[in-house]
Amino acid sequence: WVVEFYNRLTWLRREWLREISSRDALTGLLNKREFNRELARLYRLAARERRPLTIAMLDVDHFKAYNDNYGHQSGDRCLVKIAEIIRARSRRGGDLAGRVGGEEFAIVWYGNDRVTVNLMLEQLLRRVRELAIPHEHTGTARKWITLSAGARWLIPDSNSNPDAAIHEADMLLYESKQAGRDCFRLD
Ligand code: GH3
Ligand code: MG
Ligand code: MG
Repeated sequence: WVVEFYNRLTWLRREWLREISSRDALTGLLNKREFNRELARLYRLAARERRPLTIAMLDVDHFKAYNDNYGHQSGDRCLVKIAEIIRARSRRGGDLAGRVGGEEFAIVWYGNDRVTVNLMLEQLLRRVRELAIPHEHTGTARKWITLSAGARWLIPDSNSNPDAAIHEADMLLYESKQAGRDCFRLD
């Protein structure tokens, strides 16, 4: 009995360690390392099944000014609320949601066609906008927290790889920022 109990305890401990080392402490989303690892796995799966994959990079707008004016703790609360929306929109099998930087998130959606992805991104940004978290210091007419996004939709094949797709999504995110924020680019 003692051996059996000990074995179970060891298993629980291993699972628990795996769980806490793969998740971001603040939001509970996957951390960057785990996100990248899971993305690589899904990428191979999608290539084999010839299924489309969407990789979206998301970044909170004017977040430095938010922290500077409302404090780091308010900033953290804000990140938690945004993470909840992201999690709620990426919970189907094959989906991933990660926190890949301080105020940067990443999503993988598995198997959705491009038109659907367009709608999903639209909804995601709208949900964040509709949180209506006051932000008086954006320097723009928008006085609430918003999100910008860049997303790559693709069917993985042998001449593409996850790192390149992430890089391209980042470039598209940059375009959204340039275009005035609170918007997304999907390519
Ligand atoms: P942009 O609209 O171009 O994205 O501007 P920005 O101010 O959001 O971008 P920038 O990269 O200059 O600033 C990011 C800020 O996010 C810096 C820091 O104040 C805040 N930040 C990063 N990580 C955390 C975190 O874990 N918690 C909190 N509260 N704030 C964070
Ligand atoms: Mg950023
Ligand atoms: Mg930002």
